[in-house]
Order: sequence, then structure tokens, then C-alpha cells
Amino acid sequence: MSTVSCPQCFLAATVIDQFDLVSDSGQPIEHVRISCPASHHFLMARDRLTEPAPVADTALAAMLKSVSNLTAPVSLS
Ligand SMILES: [Zn+2]
Repeated sequence: MSTVSCPQCFLAATVIDQFDLVSDSGQPIEHVRISCPASHHFLMARDRLTEPAPVADTALAAMLKSVSNLTAPVSLS
């Protein structure tokens, strides 16, 4: 079972189904149904997903790091 990054929370989401859907141009496009630990469920084209997260905590740590970079410590002098 492969994992991908959840588009909403970036935790490691499990691919629970995958299949081809035919696009307007007649080309089959690979779609996946994914479910993440935060109960997000998506049905989307595989090529819209980001690369699989090797470790769930890595994506979460990166997200938390980027958030902490945005909020500079406030001095209450
Ligand atoms: Zn999620």
C-alpha cells in the first residue's frame, strides 16, 4: 500500500484505491482515493499529488517549522 502527502494537512495519507478515469480529451488519467490519519478523504488525479512522504513526521515537522518561521518571538518589554 503506497502513501502520499495529504493535500490538506500533509500527513502521510494511504492510497486506498486507484483507477483510470477518461478525461475530456479521451486520455485515461490515473486517479487515486486517499485517506489520511486526520480523516481527510480525497479522490483526485495522481499527478496532482505531491511526492510521497517517506516518514509522516517529516512532512509535519517541515510544516511546523515553516509556521514557526512565520511567527517571530514577541518581546514584551
Ligand atoms: Zn489530511
